[in-house]
Amino acid sequence: MTGHVEVVVVGAGFAGIAAAVELRDAGHDVLVVERADRVGGTWRENVYPGVACDVPAHLYSLERHPNPGWSSEFAPGPEIAAYLDDVVDREGLRGAIRFGTALTDAAWDPTADRWRLSFSGDGPDTADVLVLGCGRLSEPRIPRIPGLVSFPGSVAHTARWDSAEPVAGRRLAVVGTGSSAAQLVPELVRAGAEVTLFQRSPAWVLPRGGRTYDALDAVRFAAPGAIARERRALAAGDGERFAARSGRGAASARARRAALAHLAANVPDRAMRRALTPSYPFGCKRVVLSDAFYPAVAGGAVTLESSALAAVEGRRLIGASGVAHDGIDRIVLATGFETTHQPYARLVRGEDGRTLAEHWARGMRAVASTMVAGFPNLFVLNGPHSALPHASSLLVLERQAEFVRRVIGGGGVVRVDTDAEARATAEVAARASGTAWLGGCDSWYLDERSGGVGVLWPGTVADMAAAMDDAARTAVTRTERSALTGGAR
Ligand code: NAP
Repeated sequence: MTGHVEVVVVGAGFAGIAAAVELRDAGHDVLVVERADRVGGTWRENVYPGVACDVPAHLYSLERHPNPGWSSEFAPGPEIAAYLDDVVDREGLRGAIRFGTALTDAAWDPTADRWRLSFSGDGPDTADVLVLGCGRLSEPRIPRIPGLVSFPGSVAHTARWDSAEPVAGRRLAVVGTGSSAAQLVPELVRAGAEVTLFQRSPAWVLPRGGRTYDALDAVRFAAPGAIARERRALAAGDGERFAARSGRGAASARARRAALAHLAANVPDRAMRRALTPSYPFGCKRVVLSDAFYPAVAGGAVTLESSALAAVEGRRLIGASGVAHDGIDRIVLATGFETTHQPYARLVRGEDGRTLAEHWARGMRAVASTMVAGFPNLFVLNGPHSALPHASSLLVLERQAEFVRRVIGGGGVVRVDTDAEARATAEVAARASGTAWLGGCDSWYLDERSGGVGVLWPGTVADMAAAMDDAARTAVTRTERSALTGGAR
């Protein structure tokens, strides 16, 4: 394929699909490019045992695609992947997606006022508007551990799970204790594995709860307005959850007590309880929601190594504590993702020829969490200051999609300048000041280059919508397209 497309959306996960539907419905000519052969993003890539979403399914769905048929209050990963696939069909969007096509280069052409694009496969040469929906938690973070590459068994990140590898009767080492590990470890135990869990820092863990839905629930949710009411009811707790995660006030103290009570109720051994108790503020890292993690760790099939994996010598794994664990068959890296050093940032060059990665050399920044100074007609979804610590990320994606529609709806070339970006960055820093997120732990919310929050939005969804509205009215400037291309669509 050669030629020009009005809007190119990169990535066919929730972000890209939500934006593509929003923009297509507003009358734009949209092409989605996806490097894989299927839609799904996170939910295509993460297929480890136990993968699920700890956000209620009725909130982890697109508002315009309510789903009365969720199997349970918290949906399993494959069901979410199937849901997104179904959304694509219901929207008739599949024909607008070019699979097996990865963006390899994007450069703003200031004379033609458009993006010049290159792809690994067949894609358009140019686009007026570029929307990046490349994911936030998609690039595995692989720790550099001496001897790891020579490990004689298999080594895989949770987001690269190989289901052909046997688990039952095997000795698996799991490295990390974030949300992925908390979902995986109980399933490994259930499947008959012996697990050695390398815990560099314990997580704050709250009970998740949730029940399986039955046929009556499906009928109930299919009634007009029922899902909207359910969403409102679920979202009603957002204020409390946000306050708890921010580390402020009584809500945070209540949540911390609930987490400690959850630990006490599930881990009878005092030494193990001590090892599993975080020393950093509640909310500092993303809080884990799990009913199964503590019982699995305390249940006898898990050896808790309370230190980082420091070295690998053949099948012997050595913790930073000096303790060695022998006979390990398989290593699973539940070590999280590169969130502030995104590969896409190295591919996209703005007005002055610098890449997004260079622009973000002192930390990720954006206006309205979506537009970047020096990068006209570029919109970054799930990028700087867009991750919620307490609620469904789809609420943000939908607001971002609406923002893009609103901003490009007036045509021409849209920009934000460095002053607006500096103001937005300062506002984010002010919001984050004094919160648990800057409470002394290391987490994927943070950007070590700025010393502040990187991908985290330290506010509510309503705060973000207000920031977007303000930016659309006051920070986004619009110029006519150059005479070279003006009107040539
Ligand atoms: P993560 O939260 O970033 O956790 C990574 C873990 O790996 C941490 O415990 C970290 O320890 C540990 N680690 C990293 N390098 C290590 C090393 N060299 N030795 C020992 N430990 C090491 O990653 P994640 O669990 O994949 O979760 C990432 C995010 O994905 C979540 O926070 C969440 O937003 C999303 N997620 C969501 C769900 C859901 O249900 N909605 C499920 C899974 C994931 P330190 O804490 O000491 O750094």
